[in-house]
Amino acid sequence: MSTLTGTVALVTGASSGIGEATARTLAADGAAVALVARRADRLASLAKEIAAAGGTAVAIEADITDRDQARAAVARTVAELGRLDILVNNAGVMLLGPVEHAPIDEWDRMIDLNLTALLSVTEAALPHLLAAAESEPRRVADLVNISSTAGRQVKRGSGVYNLTKHGVGAFSESFRQEFSRRHLRVGVVEPGAVATELRDHLRPEIREVQQQRLSAMQPLQAQDVADAISYIVTRPRHQTINELLLRPTEQD
Ligand code: NDP
Repeated sequence: MSTLTGTVALVTGASSGIGEATARTLAADGAAVALVARRADRLASLAKEIAAAGGTAVAIEADITDRDQARAAVARTVAELGRLDILVNNAGVMLLGPVEHAPIDEWDRMIDLNLTALLSVTEAALPHLLAAAESEPRRVADLVNISSTAGRQVKRGSGVYNLTKHGVGAFSESFRQEFSRRHLRVGVVEPGAVATELRDHLRPEIREVQQQRLSAMQPLQAQDVADAISYIVTRPRHQTINELLLRPTEQD
C-alpha cells in the first residue's frame, strides 16, 4: 500500500510545470488528486495519464483568482473525492521588471494569483483539512505553499514578485502557529530556478535576460520540486518540514 492511500490532494496550477509534476507524484504516492487550473485540455490529459497508471484524478477547470471559482473547485474536490487531506497552493505567476514604467496590470496579476487566490483556496479548504487531520488514514493534514527563493532573497527588478512570495512565507508561518496543535501541518517550498513555462509570460526584453540566466546553469526540473513536496507530505504525523529551500547547485 502506498503512503498516501486513502487521502485526497488538491493541486492548483496542475496544468504545467511544478503543479503537473506534483499531481503525478502524489497520485503515484497513492493520493486521489484534484487537478485545478484554467487549461482544461491539459488537465484532462493528465487525469487520463494518472488513471492509466492506476491512480485517481479529477480535472477541475477554474480561474482561482475568481473567489467563487476557487470555492467551487474545493467543493467539487470534496463532492467527487470525498475529503481533502493535502492542499498544494502552487499556481503562481512571475512578472519581473523595474518599478519605474511598470505595466501596473502585471502587479495586479501577481497579487491576484500569488496572494488572493492562494487565500481563497485556503479559506475554502480549511474546514476539510481540519476534518481530515482528525480522521483516518493519517490523522494529519497538509497545506503546502509554493513560495520561491524570491520569498527570502530580495532583488532589484523583482519587487512585486518578492512582495507576494514574502507574503506567502509570512502567512504560512502565522497559519502554522494557529493550526499546529490540531495536526494541520504547513510546509513552505522555496525553489530556485526551475525549467518550466513560468518565464513565458515575461515581457520579451525581460524574458531574454531571464532565459540567459537560466541557460548559464543547470536548472532544477519540476520533478525535483515535486519530490520535495512528496517528501514533506509523507513525513510521519509527529514531524513537520516547515520550510524547504532548494536551489540549482550553480545558482547564486
Ligand atoms: P508554470 O507557468 O508552468 O505553472 C503555473 C501554473 O499556474 C499553471 O498550471 C497555470 O495553469 C496556473 N495558473 C495560472 N493562472 C491561474 C489561474 N488564474 N487560475 C488557476 N491556475 C492558474 O510555472 P511553475 O510551475 O514554474 O510555477 C509554479 C509555482 O512555482 C509558482 O507559484 C511560481 O511562482 C513558483 N516558482 C517557480 C520557479 C521557477 O523557476 N519556475 C521558482 C520558484 C518558484 P493555467 O494557465 O492552465 O491556468
